[in-house]
Amino acid sequence: MRKPLIAGNWKMFTTPPKAAKLADEMKAVLGGCRWADIVVCPPYTSISTVAASLKGTVMEIGAQDLFWEKEGAYTGEISAEMIREAGCAWVIIGHSERRAYFNETDENVYKKMRAAISAGLKPIVCVGETLDQRDKGVTENIIENQLIDGLGSLDNLSAVTIAYEPVWAIGTGRTATPEQAQEVHKFLRNIIFKKWGGSSAESIRILYGGSVKPENAIDLYDKDDIDGFLVGGASLKADSFARIAESVK
Ligand code: PEP
Repeated sequence: MRKPLIAGNWKMFTTPPKAAKLADEMKAVLGGCRWADIVVCPPYTSISTVAASLKGTVMEIGAQDLFWEKEGAYTGEISAEMIREAGCAWVIIGHSERRAYFNETDENVYKKMRAAISAGLKPIVCVGETLDQRDKGVTENIIENQLIDGLGSLDNLSAVTIAYEPVWAIGTGRTATPEQAQEVHKFLRNIIFKKWGGSSAESIRILYGGSVKPENAIDLYDKDDIDGFLVGGASLKADSFARIAESVK
């Protein structure tokens, strides 16, 4: 049995006071959640504030990215150790917005994965096809390349979570149907099985992300290979995030 995981990606929203308020509201409903792991990923500038607010709860914090070097002259970058010491246990890597707007490659994803795991962080690695790629029928090739190149030669996936996020469903209000999502999740689990073996395939959590809302979460979670959600827009309201978490009970 894989414990469900619900992660909220707050993207570039919330100043520290707003983040503290949102974290406080979420804490009131999810602070003692036992049936799922709950992670919120605020912007870097709000990590410490949210960490203070969530202290003593079961909720954990993730960053939305990191840089793979430990330290150095890399103006504007943040290391794995920095986010861990600020209060993060998790980190999102390879989000499609970073791939699209910041030219992040699978090689970058791999370096970030290694840095995260070495620092004791739990990475959530995102994969997903664009609408054009889906229409051309190359979804599986794209996903397989992103997964194999992004996870590279990692020999142990115990810290890793995968998020399947079709780019055409992110922030568009257009969700993959439960069947479309399940098809890709099953495909991903099968790749893990072939390359990393049965116990990795059985235990790894594969989240779905892309316009998840309280209204569609139950049907998506009903599918065998969907182990929870990476939620963008709906994670910016405590009520909708909590209702999504309730749907995996
Ligand atoms: C995301 O940012 O990872 C995401 C899935 O966004 P949304 O839920 O808004 O589509």
